[in-house]
Amino acid sequence: MIVTMQPAATLKEITGVIRVLESFGASPSISRDCGCTLITAATSKVPIDAQQVRSAGGVRDVHEDAHPFKRVSRDYHPEDSVIDARAARFGGGGFTVIAGPCAVENEEQIHTIAAHVAAHGAKGLRGGAFKPRTSPYAFQGMGVPGLRLLRDAARANKLAAVSEVMSIDQVADCVEHLDVLQVGARNMQNFDLLKEVGKTDKPVLLKRGPSSKIEELLLAAEYIVDAGNPRVVLCERGIRTYETATRNTLDITAVPVVKQLSHLPIIIDPSHAAGKREYVYALTLAALAVGADGVMVEVHPTPAKALSDGRQSLHFEEFERLMEDVRRQSEFRASVSV
Ligand code: PEP
Ligand code: MN
Repeated sequence: MIVTMQPAATLKEITGVIRVLESFGASPSISRDCGCTLITAATSKVPIDAQQVRSAGGVRDVHEDAHPFKRVSRDYHPEDSVIDARAARFGGGGFTVIAGPCAVENEEQIHTIAAHVAAHGAKGLRGGAFKPRTSPYAFQGMGVPGLRLLRDAARANKLAAVSEVMSIDQVADCVEHLDVLQVGARNMQNFDLLKEVGKTDKPVLLKRGPSSKIEELLLAAEYIVDAGNPRVVLCERGIRTYETATRNTLDITAVPVVKQLSHLPIIIDPSHAAGKREYVYALTLAALAVGADGVMVEVHPTPAKALSDGRQSLHFEEFERLMEDVRRQSEFRASVSV
């Protein structure tokens, strides 16, 4: 709930409204951004009786929550959030590219990829060390040694290190080595994990679950922000539909919907959405056109030999060509205002 006080409201009236909100278990906060006093009650133990707030002295307007999420809502934070992780900036009008292999495989692989993607404009280096695999017999990732290799390759090329944390007991190692903690699609509603990454000070890249609604994605983000960490970047990575031509169906509409509902940045993962490298170019440019804050793409020097997701990984030359066009189109996007 957002309470707008009358411009001439007295301190006593402001305190009176705060008392009413507190009586519902809320911890209200005050801001004066808009020239008058705004009192926001982002969470409360029981529903707040708006009538009771309206009838308190000095109140001009009471805005009741239209959505179940609060802290991530644009109602509570009208300006876009801008989240920095080393060289990577999410939000604020730019288009940031995170690139790298599906999984860290060895030192040479991750250093070669890091140098290539950095040379062509990526700002983040991805690479799974803890891999959520559908089959228990598939490569499960290198674990902590993989995190170290990723960190060193990222540092050597001035990139932000981005990798997935799959469980609470991996959080400490991930915080130590990474610049961005990725919560994967399969874990989007692992509420204990969300609360735990919410206690850290690292940006969190939260991927949308394959069967999750946008509202559920925003509520998952709300868990992280409510636990104390406001630095959440959302990621649309395709949802499961009846379509089988692609691995998932990219819900490009999620971008304008999220931008309307939330102040958090949102990027697209065209690689996991499509599952085939030949569609990554088109979907990346679509992400740029639709107003996304960036993309995360999989790149490998020899995709045919990749230990995971080779079919959707770009060859080096394909990444280079993609980045040339991203740069051209980004300049065009920046020059157009509608
Ligand atoms: C990944 O990005 O490494 C990954 C496993 O993706 P998702 O969680 O979207 O399936
Ligand atoms: Mn992958």
